[in-house]
Amino acid sequence: MVDRRPGVIARCAGVADVRRTLDFGVHRGLPISIRCGGHGVSGFAVCEGGVMIDLEEMTAVHVDPAARIARAQGGVNWGQFDHETQAFGLATTGGVVGTTGIAGLTLAGGHGMLMRRYGLACDNLRSADVLTADGRLLKASPSENEDLFWALRGGGPFAHGPGFYPNYESDVAAGRLASAFGAAKYERLRRVKRAYDPDNVFRLNQNIEPGEA
Ligand SMILES: Cc1cc2nc3c(=O)[nH]c(=O)nc-3n(C[C@H](O)[C@H](O)[C@H](O)COP(=O)(O)OP(=O)(O)OC[C@H]3O[C@@H](n4cnc5c(N)ncnc54)[C@H](O)[C@@H]3O)c2cc1C
Repeated sequence: MVDRRPGVIARCAGVADVRRTLDFGVHRGLPISIRCGGHGVSGFAVCEGGVMIDLEEMTAVHVDPAARIARAQGGVNWGQFDHETQAFGLATTGGVVGTTGIAGLTLAGGHGMLMRRYGLACDNLRSADVLTADGRLLKASPSENEDLFWALRGGGPFAHGPGFYPNYESDVAAGRLASAFGAAKYERLRRVKRAYDPDNVFRLNQNIEPGEA
């Protein structure tokens, strides 16, 4: 279905591997794509001739039952996530198929069995560790890098307003994305993009180009 062949597939074991792989690709000007569960039907996790950062080996999940929070690495799928959380009687909105990746699903909104009561997967995201193109590891949360956190959730929360599910959008033309998000939200997303990825290194996904300075 996806007829692309990366030049390099880096099967990363941790953040250090991801950072080093990213640095390798950025300094050679190569296309960079990121793979979590590999269920994205648009195929944006697979680049042609560039560097594919494969997170599939990064499957650690840590549950804090008292805080009712789970921390998961970027390659975890919903089967692995549910296996750990259900041991403590906890659950969140996730994909209905266990092999779908939590990162790709959550970044695209994420609908599932519990959404009518608890909102989409992205609405339940508490924070994320984000590696920027220039190698910074940032925390994005409601109190740290709030604009980045807002953008990771697609300009949500979706539970409290109209949302847009970008994974079904295979056309990366800016006009399509702009009309889907709406003018004001799209401009804000472009400003966030400029702040964290001004050179548009992460341009293979449903791309939002950096806004003007
Ligand atoms: C069989 C099947 C069942 C599905 N069921 C559901 C469902 O119940 N609910 C639902 O909402 N959706 C569902 N989907 C859609 C699915 O959630 C999306 O396709 C989602 O994007 C897949 O995420 P992934 O990590 O598995 O895929 P991938 O192909 O690995 O990634 C998808 C996109 O996210 C990006 N990405 C992944 N991880 C990261 C990361 N750590 N950092 C930055 N970017 C990243 C990739 O670059 C790519 O653009 C289903 C899809 C399939 C094929």
